[in-house]
Amino acid sequence: MSRLVIVSNRVSKPRETRAGGLASALNSALAEHGGLWFGWSGRVIAEDPGEISVERIGQIDYALTDLNEREYSAYYQGFSNRTLWPLLHMRPDLLDFRRENLHGYRAVNRRFAELLATQLRSDDTIWVHDYHLIPLGSELRRLGIKSRIGFFLHVPFPSPDVLTMLPEHRSLFESLGAYDLVGTQTESDQQAVADYCERELGASHDGSGNLSLPDGGRFVCKAFPISIDPELISRNAALAMHSKAHRDLVASLSGRALAISVDRLDYSKGLPERFEAFARFLETYPQHRSRISMMQIAPVTRGDVPEYQELRARLEQLAGAINGRYADPDWVPIRYINRSFHQANLAGFYRSARIGLVTPMRDGMNLVAKEYVAAQSAEDPGVLVLSRFAGAARELPEALLVNPHDADDTSNAIHTALAMPLDERRLRWQAMSNTLRGHTIGDWRRSFLEVLAAS
Ligand code: UDP
Repeated sequence: MSRLVIVSNRVSKPRETRAGGLASALNSALAEHGGLWFGWSGRVIAEDPGEISVERIGQIDYALTDLNEREYSAYYQGFSNRTLWPLLHMRPDLLDFRRENLHGYRAVNRRFAELLATQLRSDDTIWVHDYHLIPLGSELRRLGIKSRIGFFLHVPFPSPDVLTMLPEHRSLFESLGAYDLVGTQTESDQQAVADYCERELGASHDGSGNLSLPDGGRFVCKAFPISIDPELISRNAALAMHSKAHRDLVASLSGRALAISVDRLDYSKGLPERFEAFARFLETYPQHRSRISMMQIAPVTRGDVPEYQELRARLEQLAGAINGRYADPDWVPIRYINRSFHQANLAGFYRSARIGLVTPMRDGMNLVAKEYVAAQSAEDPGVLVLSRFAGAARELPEALLVNPHDADDTSNAIHTALAMPLDERRLRWQAMSNTLRGHTIGDWRRSFLEVLAAS
């Protein structure tokens, strides 16, 4: 087996705080055969970035580079976060296209490729992650790298009608042809890649994921829905029952039900719509007032981007208005928390919550939905209320699927979840739990690498 090289915008070393399931899956893939993980160090420096710094931990080399302020602004904050992110999450109204940011994005991909090329061996297998690095494969090919290179897109791939709103989209997306394998989260993302390549790049498609471009480039496009480690989360949830954090939460509820939501503070997650839907629920079903609290954990991300600052202000205003309207001296409807929690604590919170309220407007997968299911107890499981626009909805049809644009739909689903008899909760949960146990994060990375090896 050849050495595995992973490339992603950020690199997660073992033992780093808040390393999630993906980070540990990739670390274990690297640990299995030895490997290299290359990416941005997370540091922004004033002067020109130096070379690469390599640190070996166990069998794995972590190769990092800094970004200078210009690169950070154009590549990361600009083109990745304010152009590609809204475009790929179907928010073209928020798309901020500046040609200089596209140039900066390309330049960083070129520099990353040049640095990485100095570390590569001829028989390496390279696995590139996510929308920050779409042109990385073609930059590596330009440098003469002949290794197998795979790409996995963690976010959605929308229809060609949306993608073509991006100026210069062809020059960006035709670089997918440099990869041997392009992985997507869902089959509809896979279909959208094929549709875009056929319509805009003149590719031909054999209907089973093999795409040929007019310049002779060929690649396979296939869906690999990302997953979690359900055993670990279930164990963490059971252990967390004995923790002080869990006891304090349960005591504070005084016997009331809890609906939990956990999302980065991002407009794709549908937080304002969710707050409004919860208010609609309290209005439509007054019998539940003072009997259920919603807890929204929403760590702040991209706090230096204006759209995120506006969203934060709006949520503060909404939570204040809803709580002001419905709260009692001993009860507030919405507990709104901007700090982040360790996954082991979250697992305990999920298990204490009768409802997992996961209603993004658009989401590549949404791991929180899967984590909520994995954390439930088999005897008395809670109910997942899930947006049909999360990738996870394809695999978890036994959740209560809702349209997050429809406040009544979400409100009715919260009511249905609270009224659901234990038998039905168990049946739905068992089906979802079987799905998760049948396809873990370990299976995900193994199947991607197997198909890449055969591509
Ligand atoms: N997460 C966490 N602590 C927090 C909030 C979130 O560890 O305070 C984790 C969560 O458990 C999940 C991930 O962050 O594994 C979020 O992944 P998801 O696919 O739901 O959304 P993304 O942030 O990737 O858009």
